[in-house]
Amino acid sequence: MKSLEDIALKNKKILVRVDFNVPLNNKKEVLDNTRILSVKPTVDHIIKNQGVCILMTHLGRPEGENKDFSTENILKEVQKTLKREVVFVNDCVGAKVKKAVENLRPGKILLLENLRFYKEEVQGEEGFSKTLAEIADVYVNDAFGVSHRRHASTAVVAKYFKEKCAGFLLEQEIKAITQFLESKQHPVTAIIGGAKVSSKIPVIKTLLSSVDNLLIGGGMAYTFIKSKGGKIGQSIFEPAMLGVCKELIREARSKGVLLMLPEDVIAAEKLDNNTETKMASASNIENGWMGLDIGEKTQKSFSKTITGSKTILWNGPLGVFEMEAFSKGTQAIAVAVGATTKKGGFSLVGGGDSVAALKKFNLVDRVSYISTGGGAMLESLEGKTLPGIAALSK
Ligand code: AMP
Repeated sequence: MKSLEDIALKNKKILVRVDFNVPLNNKKEVLDNTRILSVKPTVDHIIKNQGVCILMTHLGRPEGENKDFSTENILKEVQKTLKREVVFVNDCVGAKVKKAVENLRPGKILLLENLRFYKEEVQGEEGFSKTLAEIADVYVNDAFGVSHRRHASTAVVAKYFKEKCAGFLLEQEIKAITQFLESKQHPVTAIIGGAKVSSKIPVIKTLLSSVDNLLIGGGMAYTFIKSKGGKIGQSIFEPAMLGVCKELIREARSKGVLLMLPEDVIAAEKLDNNTETKMASASNIENGWMGLDIGEKTQKSFSKTITGSKTILWNGPLGVFEMEAFSKGTQAIAVAVGATTKKGGFSLVGGGDSVAALKKFNLVDRVSYISTGGGAMLESLEGKTLPGIAALSK
């Protein structure tokens, strides 16, 4: 796979797939510009080398053309974050786009309309991909967060280009994931949380072959605890996954991986920040109560394992961290990951909620690498080659 630095860009038109799928409030203001900021090095390089920079992205999940999801809503923020003038065109294919591209001088930037206004984008349709490709000489993928999708702009368009490469962000993401997967710095610890165990089964299975410790928290822990015969009250769990969780516990034992589940939890009768809470044993939660965060003993034992590690992966919150009452467990784990990194360990954090937690607790600068991809990171960790990355080498 080529790097952006290997390609002569001068006077060429460069089509860059970025992931500007940023959160907006109801006034259509951008709440978090991280995804825009993270492709600035790629855009700066193209501009510095006198290329014409054409940015294409999706924004949300519009069903067809819907102005609420127009990328024009983020134009101002894109200009502000990239610190450059950006021209907008209200389509992503066709005559209007061709004209807009022709009018651009080298060193200028064009932002195309939301790719998902066309259903062909998500379908990975050939004709649409070919039309997208017609406006440019070089294709750059810098949208790691959607590289696991077989969409037109991520996995199909590349084949219509002789010159194609990864952007700097995509390169960094691959490097960080490779560094985790190939780390010889043991102990290696993975912390997996979040609500849905079913979405994390494949990655847990793969991680069992490479990690020393696997810490499981969040809502998904209760399916594991129940599979061992624990009483989980009204905590969330996935009945269809009980057998798989039991099997994973057995597999961890046979591979010599220390699989840690919460010993104690903060329980409540309802999901409410102001409701009464109490500490409970994770495997003996009263009927009517549910576990919504890891308890103090678990915070201590998990933190001890984390700070004794040299390589860390963290994906998914340990509790309902969005509510103050159930955020302490996730905060304690974030602090422990930060402390380990400070001692020279390598930490990779990914997934929207874990990153949001780091931001909430002001710990963004305390970890080695924050991935911009959730699903894409998990699939890479499973050892899959993502379609959007494979397409760059064909
Ligand atoms: P996921 O998308 O599967 O990674 O789940 C993220 C969500 O899991 C966050 O919004 C958390 O609030 C939620 N979560 C974490 N712990 C629990 C829990 N014990 N019970 C219910 N939801 C949880």
